[in-house]
Amino acid sequence: MIDPSELPYLRRCVELATEALEAGDEPFGSVLVSGDGAVLAEDHNRVAAGDRTRHPEFALARWSAEHMTPEERAAATVYTSGEHCPMCAAAHAWVGLGRIVYAASSAQLAAWLAELDVPPPPVRTLPVGDIAPGVVVEGPVPELADEVRELHRRFHG
Ligand SMILES: [Zn+2]
Repeated sequence: MIDPSELPYLRRCVELATEALEAGDEPFGSVLVSGDGAVLAEDHNRVAAGDRTRHPEFALARWSAEHMTPEERAAATVYTSGEHCPMCAAAHAWVGLGRIVYAASSAQLAAWLAELDVPPPPVRTLPVGDIAPGVVVEGPVPELADEVRELHRRFHG
């Protein structure tokens, strides 16, 4: 369950996704939060220059491996505007990060992009649980998912 005190982290993810959109990138944003609630790092998509692995969840997984102990990583939560893709779910699990909370699910995003006639991605859309079965995952959050949908509509519109 998502505690109301967690909504600001997700709102920050949507803000970061908006920043990405305004910078000409795909609208995804993520925040890494310690076990005691401190924001440690945040990022948004940076794929517009051509490296399509530059997802924020992947960047945060690598940041956590460099800057946090295994215990700190296990206690941390990654909040994100859209559910981790398989690449990012794998990175999250490999570095031993804790919970994931997302605003919009991969299934929602896939449906929205199909409605917008966006070609499917080169990597299969799968829920985090299919890639990283040990990771606790929460979401979607309906009122924020609608905002995320609007960002994708703007990006692809
Ligand atoms: Zn990803």
